[in-house]
Order: sequence, then C-alpha cells, then structure tokens
Amino acid sequence: MATLPVLTIPLPSLRERSRELEGHEITTPEFQQFLDALIETMFIEDGIGIAAPQVGKNIRAIIVNLKKEGPTAFMNPVITKTSEATIVGEEGCLSVPGKYGLVRRHKRVTMKALNRHGRTVELEVSGLFAVVFQHEIDHLDGILYIDKAIEVFDKTSGKKIAL
Ligand code: ZN
Repeated sequence: MATLPVLTIPLPSLRERSRELEGHEITTPEFQQFLDALIETMFIEDGIGIAAPQVGKNIRAIIVNLKKEGPTAFMNPVITKTSEATIVGEEGCLSVPGKYGLVRRHKRVTMKALNRHGRTVELEVSGLFAVVFQHEIDHLDGILYIDKAIEVFDKTSGKKIAL
C-alpha cells in the first residue's frame, strides 16, 4: 500500500487551521483510500497517531492507534469535556524530527467525531490516549507540541533545547 511523505517544520501549512469534512466526503472511495494510506504512513513512521495536515491535507482527519480497536480514523474531532487533572508526559512528533518534549495535558478527555462510515462516535479516554488525542487535534488547528512544551530535548544528545 502507498505511504505518504510526512511534512516537517517549518512548513507553513502545518500551522494552518484545517477545514471540517462534510459527511458525504468521508464515504467516497478516494477518501477511504486516503485514510488507509494515512494509517500505513503512521505505521511506517512508527507513530501512535497522525493528523492529515502532516501529509499536506489541511482537513480535519486524524488516526489514533487505539489499544483495543487498532488504527482508527476520526473526522472533525472535537473535545467536549476535559478533566481538571493534568499529567506531564513525553511527546514527540513526526513533523518535528529529532526532538521530544515534556507537555502538560488533560488527564482525561471526552471526544466527539465522525468515524470512517460518517457516523458520530463519542469516546472517553485517559492517560496516554488522552494525550494522543489532544496532540493530534492540536495539529488540526496548526498547533504543535513544541508550542506547549515545558521543555524540549534533542533526541540524540538528550540535551535541553532553548525554546
Ligand atoms: Zn504530531
């Protein structure tokens, strides 16, 4: 299956707000193929999630590799509820190569989206998957984890990078 090239900073399109998808766009064979290619790209790049703008499509679609369900597509995802409790975790991004950072996120989030059949789904996630959803949904608004990171490190040397 075809994979897609992952775009990296400082590409301006990674900083744009992506547009909502219409229900009828989601069920077309072209779009379904795009989702499969996005999933394949996430696996090749060893990611746990990926967002459409990372491959140059400024549309609101993300993939998250859920523990039970496996790679799952979510269109027009919206976080509807967040916990007051937060966690600080290590994050990396395929679009920000060679770095990782510490980011504070909500510990638990509820999310509403359309699935790949165009049907509304609601999901409550916590811990790692809450972090992944917040990270990927940020991509749809042109926000990268480095914008929110408490600290960013060089992957090779482990040295702190000045922001
Ligand atoms: Zn990312």
